[in-house]
Formats: sequence, structure tokens, C-alpha cells
Amino acid sequence: MEPKTNSCSIEQNLKERLTPEQYQVCMCSATEAPFSGEYWDCKEPGTYTCVCCGEELFASESKYDSGTGWPSFFDAINEDAISRKEDLTHNMVRVEILCKKCGSHLGHVFEDGPKPTGLRYCVNSASLKLVQE
Ligand code: FE
Repeated sequence: MEPKTNSCSIEQNLKERLTPEQYQVCMCSATEAPFSGEYWDCKEPGTYTCVCCGEELFASESKYDSGTGWPSFFDAINEDAISRKEDLTHNMVRVEILCKKCGSHLGHVFEDGPKPTGLRYCVNSASLKLVQE
């Protein structure tokens, strides 16, 4: 079991720091509406970090237009920074992805992405903060 005091204090801080939508996505695994987020169409170079803890997650070089309306990446900066969890909600079998460092919900990963990985990391804009180069 993880110590509860840590996550509670982080959560308290996040309620003040995040927008209500960011909080719903990151802490309650909500999904932002497609084509609504800050980054789905963003082509700026930089590093996409976890909005909650600042961990580096995705590079703009790995971002591609999946047509889904969510920021999509074919690779992670460091696979070890992302944890995966089976998600059986909404009558689907999906793989949820979370920031391993802080547990924030990111989105899901699918196996219909482009080469070379064949992966599609489908991420909510609300979970990310782009640090421009
Ligand atoms: Fe994080």
C-alpha cells in the first residue's frame, strides 16, 4: 500500500493549481472532448511534461496527427516514466496510461499507431504542459 498522506497533500495542492478540467482528467480519469484541448493541433517544438509533477513524457518529434482530436504520439521519451493499467470501463478493453511518478491520468495507448513503434499514445491536452525549446 502506498502511504496516503503523500497523495492527499499532492491532491490538495493540485486542486488549487489546476483548472477544474485538468483536475477532472488527471485525478478522476475524465476525457476531454476531442478537438477541444490546447495541444491536439499543436506543432510547436518542445517537450510535453506532466502537468501535475513536471516529469518529461513526450517529445514533439514523436507527435503526429492521428485525426482523433487528441494529442497523439508514437513514442514516449522514456517508457519507464509511464505506467499502464488495464481499463475495462465504457464496455471497452483499453490500456490506460498514467504518469508513473505521480499517478496522474494521461490517456490510453493503442496498437494502431504509425511506424516504427506501431503505438498510438492518445493523451489528453489537460494532462500535459508543453515546455518549448
Ligand atoms: Fe506526473
